[in-house]
Amino acid sequence: MSKPINMRRCVVCRQVRHKSELLRVVKAADNISVDTTGKQDGRGAYVCKSPECLTTLRKRRNFDKVFKTKLPDELYDMIKEKVYM
Ligand SMILES: [Zn+2]
Repeated sequence: MSKPINMRRCVVCRQVRHKSELLRVVKAADNISVDTTGKQDGRGAYVCKSPECLTTLRKRRNFDKVFKTKLPDELYDMIKEKVYM
């Protein structure tokens, strides 16, 4: 069995979902940003586009641990904004 294509794990609920259901945040060099195209180079991490996961993400700051750095509040706010745009 080959690995399912385009399946990624959410950093909050740990569930594996299709990429289209997830929002990608990418770290390239020292810059961390929301990757709306899903194609940016760098190390990516994913979160579900669900209100539950986004609220928990904001509270627990899961991406801080994933990227081993303290992400600014503005970035977490931006993640929510991108999903609800
Ligand atoms: Zn999730």
